This record gives sequence, structure tokens and C-alpha cells, in this order.
Amino acid sequence: MSLDSEVVIIGSGPVGSTIAYYLSQKNLDVTLVDKKNQIGYPLQCAGILSKHIFDYNELPDNLILNTVKGAFLHTQNHILKVEKQENAAYIIDRIAYDEHLFKRAIENGVKFINEKAIDYDIENGITYLSHGTQINSKVIIGCEGYNSGLSQKMGNTQSNFNASQMLVEISDENIQSFRDSIASIDEYVDTYLTNDILPGFLWVIPLGNNQFRVGLFSNHTHKQQNDMLNDFLNQNFEYEIIEKYKGFIPIFNEKNLLVKGHAVLIGDAAGQVKPTSGGGLLIGFDACEMASRHVANAVENDDINLLRDYQKEFHKKYHKEFSYQFKVQRTLGLLSDEDLDYFFMKLRQNDCERIISEYGDMDKQSTLVKEFIKRGLIFKIMPTFLFKKIINIFGFR
Ligand SMILES: Cc1cc2nc3c(=O)[nH]c(=O)nc-3n(C[C@H](O)[C@H](O)[C@H](O)COP(=O)(O)OP(=O)(O)OC[C@H]3O[C@@H](n4cnc5c(N)ncnc54)[C@H](O)[C@@H]3O)c2cc1C
Repeated sequence: MSLDSEVVIIGSGPVGSTIAYYLSQKNLDVTLVDKKNQIGYPLQCAGILSKHIFDYNELPDNLILNTVKGAFLHTQNHILKVEKQENAAYIIDRIAYDEHLFKRAIENGVKFINEKAIDYDIENGITYLSHGTQINSKVIIGCEGYNSGLSQKMGNTQSNFNASQMLVEISDENIQSFRDSIASIDEYVDTYLTNDILPGFLWVIPLGNNQFRVGLFSNHTHKQQNDMLNDFLNQNFEYEIIEKYKGFIPIFNEKNLLVKGHAVLIGDAAGQVKPTSGGGLLIGFDACEMASRHVANAVENDDINLLRDYQKEFHKKYHKEFSYQFKVQRTLGLLSDEDLDYFFMKLRQNDCERIISEYGDMDKQSTLVKEFIKRGLIFKIMPTFLFKKIINIFGFR
């Protein structure tokens, strides 16, 4: 069977459903394809979104499970507390959110095909599906997540971190003694940094009612991560595991193309994930807004060369920020567990809890790094023997 559609989108995750909705709002004929039988499953997300979510997409109140205002940042022997006056982030029901975004697209006229895309002809705009259907379109948008077949077809190289997460029940007293604080349990997330986990980190995210998402991303296998999470839980808490999940976090590669021929990539398929935190939803939604303008322009003018403006706009907006985040990641990667302890001790001595609370932004770490540089703090908080390497990483003169 052969079908025609102005735009075909592969993957009805949050990013695919969002770009589908935006394009249907621009009155384009859009077909969304997904191989999954149930939207949103299995859960592969910690579900934390900064307050900036409302700048990029809707988030209905009933999908917010909890609101947090700060974090306890742990190394093996030190804890820092950073917080905002107002809400800093939302913890969401990610499965229900995916369902909501999908429903919004369908209700706005997007067609849906429940099949797997198995091949693409990106020079002629053809998508081949698993049951023999062929879709001819002016634009093919790959939103298939971390292992994008369309990205491979475009000649890109993809790489990912493994990520693992557990839904765990932990008592208030356990959390308080882990934080060494009686601060309101559900208003803070915890992060835990060790040399072994870097360039990733471990998180503990409160959902309310003594339930927490405890997870990590790192260079380890899923099996090793499972053992690391069990060790972490055993060392710090009495707990009960309710569910386990695993997934992948793409690593952004600036050499990869976002556009080639009739093909466009967005979201995890494009590696559009914050290097330091692994968060992909806000950037993915921002890229949807950018791409929707350029895709509509290309379709209306019947000129696929105009798609390239999306790639230019994305790189212009995110190149510098990603580069800062990779530098932060490389710098932290130099630190042993003792160095991490030293680093946290120095942060506290130099009033950095207050500075991080004021300038820290989970979406844009360059603001904080620039503030540290401006205040001459970098060399006050890092072990002396690393100065030369840090100078090289940041290109200081
Ligand atoms: C453990 C973990 C925790 C995370 N925590 C956070 C967080 O707290 N905050 C945050 O912002 N981000 C987080 N992320 C990242 C976030 O989950 C992703 O960035 C986000 O899911 C990307 O959405 P997407 O729509 O691009 O891809 P996905 O959500 O991966 O959706 C891809 C869709 O494409 C479909 N698909 C794939 N291949 C095909 C095919 N060939 N044919 C048809 N359909 C196909 C899949 O079935 C799926 O429905 C986390 C990731 C992990 C792994």
C-alpha cells in the first residue's frame, strides 16, 4: 500500500507528538508512526522538568506529581544545599504526559499508524513500514529516540550512556539522616557524585508518600548500574524496591547532521540532550518549535533546501551552551573521590552554596560557570595540581 502525506513523523514520544501537533496547527497534513502498542511505556525518565517548561510546552496541573525548590548535592563525605526562593522544578507523571501530548496531536487532526518504520529513501522522501506500507512525503522527521534508524541512514554516528532507575520506598528518617538535615523531604532532590559514576551522576527524586525515583547514568552496563544502585541503597537506607527501569541517554555529537535531503531529526534521535544532566525534554520541545517553522516554510515553498535553516538555528542557539557543559563534564571527570570531597569543601568555604542557589540553572549551566570565572573562583575551588588541565579545557589565557 502506498500513502501520501506532506510530513511523516517517526516516533510518538513526547518530541514526535509535539512536533506533530505544531505542524498540524500550521494546517499541514501530518502522519505520525510508532511501533509501540502503548504510548509512554515503558517509563524511561526521572520526570524532572525545570520551571522553564512553560516557555516550551503545556504541562497540565494534574500531571505534576511534586514540586521541588532545591537540591542536596552529595559527594562521599560532603553535602551542599542549594535552593531557590520559588519552585525550581516539577516532577511529572511522564507516562501520562506522553499520552497527553499524543492525544493533543490526534485531536488536532494528525493521522496515526501503529507500525515500525524499517527503511527510508531520504533523497526521495519515502518511508517504508513493517507491514508493507510505503509513505511518500515532502519531509520525514525522525523522532525515534536514542537509536534512530533515520539518523543512521543520514550517515550519522550515534553513541549513548546507559541509564537505570528504580522506584523505591524510603522512610523520612532515612532521607533526613542521608541529607543530615530535617528540611522538608519532598521539596528537595538529591544528587550523588563519585568518580566511578562520572561523567554521569546518581539522583534521588521525591514523588511524595515516601516514594522516590533513584537512578543514574554512567559509562557502565545496565547490570553494573543495577549493582551500583543496590550498593548505594544498601549503604544509605532501609528501602523497598517497587519497580525497575532502564534506558539510554544519547550523547550530542556536533558533527552529526540534523537535516539531509528530505530528512530532519529532533529530540533524542538528534542527540538533543543536555550533556551534564541527560535531560532531553525541554531542548527537544524547543527544537520542535524551531523545526516546525522551517518545515512549514519548506513545505509551503516546495523547497527542501529551506530545512537546513533549522540546523543552523539549533546550532546557533545551543552550540555554546553544550560546549560549556562538555567542559564542566571533562573537568569533573579529572577528579578522584578525594578531589571531589576537596572541591565540595572549597565550594562551601567560598560561599558557593549561595552563588549556586542564585545563579544555578538546571537548563543553562554556562551562567553559573561564567559567574565562577568572573569571581575568580575556579582556581580557589579546584585542587592546584589540576590547574594546567583546567586551563587547557577552558582555554583560559
Ligand atoms: C533513565 C532516564 C531518565 C531521564 N530523566 C529525564 C528527566 O528527568 N528530564 C528530562 O528532561 N529528560 C530525561 N530523560 C531524557 C528523556 O526521557 C528523553 O530526552 C525523551 O524521552 C526524548 O523524547 P523523544 O520523543 O525524542 O524520544 P523517545 O521518548 O525515546 O520516543 C521515541 C519513540 O519512537 C518510537 N520508535 C522508535 N523507533 C521506531 C521505529 N523504527 N518505528 C516506529 N516508531 C519508533 C518509540 O517506540 C518511541 O515511542 C531521561 C532519560 C532516561 C533514560
